[in-house]
Amino acid sequence: MSQWDLHEARPASFDEQGWRVKIHPAEARGLWRKRRQIVQSFLLIIFLVLPWIQIGGRQALLLDVGNRQFEIFGLSLRAHNAPLLVFILAMAGFGLFLVTAVWGRVWCGWACPQTVFIEMVYRKIETWIEGNAGERRILDKQPWNSKKLVKKSFKWAAFVAVSLILTHSFLAYFVGTDRLAQMIQHPPTENWTSFLFIAFSTAIILFDFGWFREQFCMIACPYGRFQSVLMDSRSMIVGYDYKRGEPRRGSPAVKDQAQGDCVNCYRCVQVCPTGIDIRRGVQLECIACTACVDACDEIMTKTGKPKGLIRYTTLRELGTEISQRIGLGPKFHLTPRVGIYSLVIIAAAIGLVVGISSHRAVDVLIFRGKGLPYQITQHAGEEYVLNQFYAEATNTTDQDLKLLIKNLDTESPVEIVNTQGGLFVRAGKIERLGFFVRFPRARAKEIAKAPLRLEFKNEDTEEFRFQREVRLVAPLTE
Ligand code: SF4
Ligand code: SF4
Repeated sequence: MSQWDLHEARPASFDEQGWRVKIHPAEARGLWRKRRQIVQSFLLIIFLVLPWIQIGGRQALLLDVGNRQFEIFGLSLRAHNAPLLVFILAMAGFGLFLVTAVWGRVWCGWACPQTVFIEMVYRKIETWIEGNAGERRILDKQPWNSKKLVKKSFKWAAFVAVSLILTHSFLAYFVGTDRLAQMIQHPPTENWTSFLFIAFSTAIILFDFGWFREQFCMIACPYGRFQSVLMDSRSMIVGYDYKRGEPRRGSPAVKDQAQGDCVNCYRCVQVCPTGIDIRRGVQLECIACTACVDACDEIMTKTGKPKGLIRYTTLRELGTEISQRIGLGPKFHLTPRVGIYSLVIIAAAIGLVVGISSHRAVDVLIFRGKGLPYQITQHAGEEYVLNQFYAEATNTTDQDLKLLIKNLDTESPVEIVNTQGGLFVRAGKIERLGFFVRFPRARAKEIAKAPLRLEFKNEDTEEFRFQREVRLVAPLTE
């Protein structure tokens, strides 16, 4: 029995008492690792650089939830544009479902921030300071001495530094780079909320990326929990070709049969960051990182066998018992779930395009005032009816605007009162103005029959001019 033979009933990252056993995956080299490193380097650079990119003088991607301001690659959205965000979130969510249904856990192994940061940053720092997997294992087992103390201190100091960079970059997506730069230059007492957010996030990141690592994928990630229900026998998995590999070397069956291609070297187990043996079949713990594919391909090359004993495949292709039972052939079919996910994504994309095409940089909405539908008032010795309204203007441009309000029907006795000289809307803000509409009670029934047409026009330019209609409410008796 090898030291790499895993326990049948518990993951390698737990001991008998349920305590964590740290996994030190060996480094796998090969084509898949190169591909993943290219993709992950690109994603890492995008994450760090994107907040600093400006489009049209605004941050390319800003999700300022506090101020209900969202900048998405040139598209400025405010709170009242929330339906557009729903389309975007639907596309992202169902996009992930679709990717999982077709390519399995490709998100986990290639693009999840957890995997990208651990593999491209934290594990590289660890290897650089503490050495390869074997050296790290020895160091961990060693009693504390000055050499171990220096290495561990140096490593955790580096972890703290990169965690601070990551959390500040993350915060920049929510508060903007300008505000982030201001916050950094001022004491924490002036920005307690953001300071505590940074401190808390840094602690979480340190714990997760520095210590907890792939354990999170196995026991805490909600996507990892439900992704198996998104997949079927046609979804891509990293799988072991047991028909070709078995009986493996050292197996009792080998005496009677020809040996399979697996030489039982355990290299696939040694490189696995979640500490599983992929030869036991598809497992929840597998994050499809492809390390075992590279590791096994290397062994196959050395033993003169074709590569791909462990490869990207499907359960159907592997011809498992389940696949054979439900009689699936080797040909790919568009599955109902892939079709449904695609239709939802297309519907959300159409909704987004329609929403964007009707999106205005400046917009005005009118709401009726709360409380009584109308009031009776005296003015210049005559009885008048008053209706109260609110105008809410959204200004996503870079300039302050002043919108003047007027009644378009110049012959009508209806007056707009208490407009405070117009509706002033600062650049990038949503502002509200309450105003009254006054009309003579003697003609109230006649006036209330037709909608009142109002015009909101920018004071200085003709660029922003809106017409809105409101219904007036008057007493039934004159
Ligand atoms: S089994 Fe292979 S693909 Fe899955 S997590 Fe382990 S090394 Fe990665
Ligand atoms: S690396 Fe390949 S040959 Fe070695 S034990 Fe794993 S499956 Fe078998």
